[in-house]
Amino acid sequence: MHITRISIFQCDLDLKKPYYLSGGRLRFDRLDSTVVAIETDEGLTGWGEGCPWGSTYLPGFGRGIRAGLEELAPQLIGLNPLVPDHVNLVLDTALPGHPYIKSAVDLACWDILGQRSGMPVCELLGGRYGDAVPLVSSVSTGSPDEMLQTVRDFASDGYFMHSVKVGADVALDIERIRYLTSNTPATEMLVYDANRAWLPSEAIAVMNGVADLQATFEQPCETYEECLHVRRLTTSPISLDEVIKEFHDLVRLQADGAAELVNIKIGRVGGLTKARRMRDFCMAFGIRMLIMDTGGSVISDTAAAHLAHATPERYRVATWDCAAMLTRATATGALADNGVIRAPLDPGLGVAPIADELGEPIAVYQ
Ligand code: MG
Repeated sequence: MHITRISIFQCDLDLKKPYYLSGGRLRFDRLDSTVVAIETDEGLTGWGEGCPWGSTYLPGFGRGIRAGLEELAPQLIGLNPLVPDHVNLVLDTALPGHPYIKSAVDLACWDILGQRSGMPVCELLGGRYGDAVPLVSSVSTGSPDEMLQTVRDFASDGYFMHSVKVGADVALDIERIRYLTSNTPATEMLVYDANRAWLPSEAIAVMNGVADLQATFEQPCETYEECLHVRRLTTSPISLDEVIKEFHDLVRLQADGAAELVNIKIGRVGGLTKARRMRDFCMAFGIRMLIMDTGGSVISDTAAAHLAHATPERYRVATWDCAAMLTRATATGALADNGVIRAPLDPGLGVAPIADELGEPIAVYQ
């Protein structure tokens, strides 16, 4: 089998309400998503999606994906999509780095591999553990009352895990964290995600100021070194997210004992092939994981749901349903229901793009 044609679609995905990332630094109300269709000489079509969480969250942006695919597409024509590891090797040789550009292509290859083998992607990635995967909410930063209302709204939809964005001045963060923790049932879990907003001194002050709560904190500071410095002067559990970009970052994390938890985002690390390697490393060393994409509609969510569902419950914490925050869906796929999501049972990713939503391709390579 070989790849004969690659079609690129661009989709503007409006958020139901504007999003304020930690510290109020980053406000946006729309995502720029790229959907990729890979066709083969045997008539199978695989689908993938790449979508940064706005342009200010990570080193990546929507138009960057499409520019990168223009560069890479000639290398892909003729490759066998049934061997995603080899496709990744070719892509990394043609264009080192830029993993977020390559994720959609990798997802489409896994989709084809699953369709061809008659197996859902989760089973190719390790199995199907549990009936469903819990979803974590994403709670935009705001006043303590606004944030609590958002948490309660998600809880009424069945969510029991919440990623709450903090990262302002020390006093306000301590106030918010105490208020939210004291007004949230013990059956629910709150992760306080600073998204790199704190200086080490601020992170240490906040985390030690609420040390009695033993709350979990995600990505307190900009760099790995800063987070490690904070780690050594605090006692709360830590999750690392943005600084975990590739396999070697996990090796360093494990050697340093830098975190109990990591957030593996398949778009950030370059797709399911690389995310699976990182998942396996975490399992080997007892590191628990959030597994999700950086953003996007149903195709991205479904791909993440497959890897999360393929990960034993002991190691996986949750995944994320970004599509629930959008005004429209560009495909059908994994079904989210009452705070959980299930990887589809169909072969491949089990996604079906909605032609009217995708529109015409903006580029075709063949
Ligand atoms: Mg995070």
